Amino acid sequence: MRSDVTIIGGGPAGLAMALSLDALGLSVTVLERAPHAALADPDFDGREIALTHHSVSALRASGAWARIPAIGVSPLREARVETGRRNHPLTFDTRGRGVDALGYLVSNHLIRRALYQEAVSRPGITLRAGVATRRVRTDRDRVTVLAEGGDIETRLAIAADGRFSDIRRLHGIGAVTHDFHRAMLVCRMAHESPHHHVALQWFDQGQTVALLPVNGSASSLVLTLPPDHIADLRAMERDAFNAEIMARIGNRLGAMRLVSTRHVYPLCAVYAHRFTASRFALIGDAAVGMHPITAHGFNLGLKGQEILTQEIAAGLARHGDPGAAASLRRFEMRHRMATAPLFAATNGIATLYTRDDPPFRHLRVAGLRVADSLAPFKAAVTSMLMDDKKTA
Ligand SMILES: Cc1cc2nc3c(=O)[nH]c(=O)nc-3n(C[C@H](O)[C@H](O)[C@H](O)COP(=O)(O)OP(=O)(O)OC[C@H]3O[C@@H](n4cnc5c(N)ncnc54)[C@H](O)[C@@H]3O)c2cc1C
Repeated sequence: MRSDVTIIGGGPAGLAMALSLDALGLSVTVLERAPHAALADPDFDGREIALTHHSVSALRASGAWARIPAIGVSPLREARVETGRRNHPLTFDTRGRGVDALGYLVSNHLIRRALYQEAVSRPGITLRAGVATRRVRTDRDRVTVLAEGGDIETRLAIAADGRFSDIRRLHGIGAVTHDFHRAMLVCRMAHESPHHHVALQWFDQGQTVALLPVNGSASSLVLTLPPDHIADLRAMERDAFNAEIMARIGNRLGAMRLVSTRHVYPLCAVYAHRFTASRFALIGDAAVGMHPITAHGFNLGLKGQEILTQEIAAGLARHGDPGAAASLRRFEMRHRMATAPLFAATNGIATLYTRDDPPFRHLRVAGLRVADSLAPFKAAVTSMLMDDKKTA
């Protein structure tokens, strides 16, 4: 089989990439390990993805946004950051910006379903599901992707197979890995008091809690604790779990009730040593797997595929080749510039705000107070959260 570009991994980053390349008129094959049924109707996985304005525009342009039901899109009007008990909160809102929301929360399974529906509607995209890719063999002029059910001859292979990417490793590309020795439990809780579409990020002593407002008097609970505590909470009987969560969050939202399955994610951030090799590129979490605390993983995944698409388009125009070395070099440089500072800052925040020894505790209380009084700082962070600018 032949294809201009072959993408390994039909997760959100891989499918978004496929749609962008299809729009350039290239033939694209996507190889995904999970079966079609799991892609067509993915299960709820606990993740509520906070999308920036830029990401919403990208999804709209791809055709996927129109496939997400309106009820599944929850506006984020304000974000509050608190540390400890009775401390001055740091708040971010849209005042003076002429928009109704900082960003929008959408469940990961709805994003995946919408991207899949759009991808299978495009004749230029071949989606082979239930197929494990074994490895990618490259030479100067072409690439062979070795996969179950038949190899593929292609001009560029893109690995989008997640943060623990086998294809990255088999291709000899290492990665910086930062294990936070914490796990995250995520689930949906219905509650008595309204959330007014305000998100809370609370760095309490011994725990980190996020409450993300979703439609229908409910919030997504994101609780970070050592892995053994998280395992106990996941196994806890429902009534006991509800009582435990209400106590943990100080009854902020009145009576609470678990209304979804519970999901656990180990906290491990990953940054690939290189994003490219000859006729080979990494995108999504396979390139940069962020700690979720700053809600940037998929937003950066979309940025990466957008930059790579721009460079492939330039390579096609200049050399008639989607895998031109100059295009991959420019993608490498631009995506590194777009991600390295955020990756480092996110890891710094995650460490500062989850360690409870005294210097860290005092620093974060002081940090929030100073940050809240600095209007230019708040304006800059709000712009970053919203990201309403175009990728140059
Ligand atoms: C709790 C939590 C909250 C988050 N919140 C946010 C947020 O608010 N905002 C945000 O922007 N991001 C957020 N993220 C990050 C976001 O979920 C990820 O960045 C995004 O899902 C990564 O997509 P991906 O396609 O790169 O990887 P994945 O979703 O991991 O997809 C990889 C795909 O590759 C397939 N695959 C793997 N190996 C092979 C193989 N050998 N052959 C074929 N297929 C293969 C897998 O089956 C899978 O479908 C959050 C993450 C977590 C855990």
